[in-house]
Amino acid sequence: MTDLKSRLTDPTLLKSASFIDGGWVDSSDTFEVRNPADGSLVAKVADIGAGGAHRAVDAAARAFQTWKKTPVFERARIVRRWHELIVEHASDLGAIITAEMGKPYKEARGEVVYGAGFISWAAEEAMRLHGETLPTQAPGSRGWTIHQPVGVVACITPWNFPSAMISRKCGPALAAGCTVVVKPAPETPLSALALAELAKRAGFPAGVFNVINGKAEVLGPVMTGAPAVRMIGFTGSTEVGKLLMRQAADGIKRVSLELGGNAPFLVMDDADVELAADGVMASKFRAAGQTCVSANRIIAQDGVADALIKALKRRVEKLKVGSGFDERTNVGPLIHQEAVEHVSALVEDARTRGAKVLVGGQSLSAKMGGAFYAPTLIEAGEDQGLDMATSEIFGPVATVYRASDEAEMIRLANDTRHGLAAYLYTNDVGRVHRMSEALEFGMVGVNAPMVGSPSTPFGGMKESGIGREGGKWGVEEFTELKFVMLGGVDR
Ligand code: ADP
Repeated sequence: MTDLKSRLTDPTLLKSASFIDGGWVDSSDTFEVRNPADGSLVAKVADIGAGGAHRAVDAAARAFQTWKKTPVFERARIVRRWHELIVEHASDLGAIITAEMGKPYKEARGEVVYGAGFISWAAEEAMRLHGETLPTQAPGSRGWTIHQPVGVVACITPWNFPSAMISRKCGPALAAGCTVVVKPAPETPLSALALAELAKRAGFPAGVFNVINGKAEVLGPVMTGAPAVRMIGFTGSTEVGKLLMRQAADGIKRVSLELGGNAPFLVMDDADVELAADGVMASKFRAAGQTCVSANRIIAQDGVADALIKALKRRVEKLKVGSGFDERTNVGPLIHQEAVEHVSALVEDARTRGAKVLVGGQSLSAKMGGAFYAPTLIEAGEDQGLDMATSEIFGPVATVYRASDEAEMIRLANDTRHGLAAYLYTNDVGRVHRMSEALEFGMVGVNAPMVGSPSTPFGGMKESGIGREGGKWGVEEFTELKFVMLGGVDR
């Protein structure tokens, strides 16, 4: 515990209680947060149980009555201040991420700044969220639209981006005039609590921003069941997303779901192979492969497959595995040992079915004393039916499949229940249009391995979710479009 504290320039950011109605709420019931790189204890965090969750929802509902009427100029000012404080404290917030989930510190700090971008962008968008005047059929009448905040939003967030998934939801929600109750993942509550401390310093009125910690199966039903909660914003597994959607159905609550992906990474014969290999590395090994937009199936056209595999082998062999606090580290630990076992099982399945493991292919946990898996490159054969082709790997394992032509590439790419991100490497402009339009994914990176930006829509199709985060769409998501009709204008 002292180790992380001593790394921070502002140790008061390290909190272990929940943040409800503008104050810190403790409990004698606690759960542990451990550093996955070495299993050391980072903090013990209070579990506030169902009672705490109800208090947070009530506080958010009360605060909504004033926050929704606060002029957008004032709301945006506070939201922007929150953004400034986050950027000022990016180094400390990055260190907290590395300690609780393991990603390399540079990536962690990058996540903080990336996520903060959504906050400032949302503050600007909210200022320009205006309605329209509309013609109507009834003589002597006029109509217009206004955007109003949805109400209390419950945000349930994952551990792989402990900071950005909160800022990406809460910046827009708060700027739009909603109040929020955040439930972070139990693996990574400290980033959420540090953001709450900064929200407090930014000047959000009590109850506007709340963070609760405890058992998901206890807090979740309170959030989905409370009549005051009007929207569930969730990033996480498809399985939990479906459960939340079912629970939200009873109250016809709005849902915005960012769920699992199974991203295809298509490399066409005409692509720049070195650029494509760099792209695979960025997409695949960031956060040790634990992102929902990570390349899950690398599909190379026959003419370029051997060259791509060679280029990847050179790169994967060079990756350094270690603690996220070690500057030389490219690939940190996985979130916990069960994650290592999940990846090991997928690689064993691939081996058994005849795929070739060219680099890595084993757990490093015993050797390194943390939850580590070796960066791995696999070459799949034809029709092997690998488990990892249909399920999310969520680990540092790059698997290359081969395909003969454009039609087969598209068929393989779309052959999944998911539809979040896809990547396409080609230099043929006709292909760019044909293929990006044929891919059933919410985001397509053409010669680009990253698809997220504060100004652009992030989200998926099919079982990858509903709704978009980012840009103007991310703010509109948290509003109701109301139509007002005025009669008797010509009287
Ligand atoms: P992962 O498998 O990557 O941890 P999850 O979907 O299980 O992804 O977790 C994402 C978030 O959803 C976390 O905050 C987790 O605590 C929360 N969660 C998990 N189960 C439930 C549930 N039954 N109700 C509400 N939230 C849940």
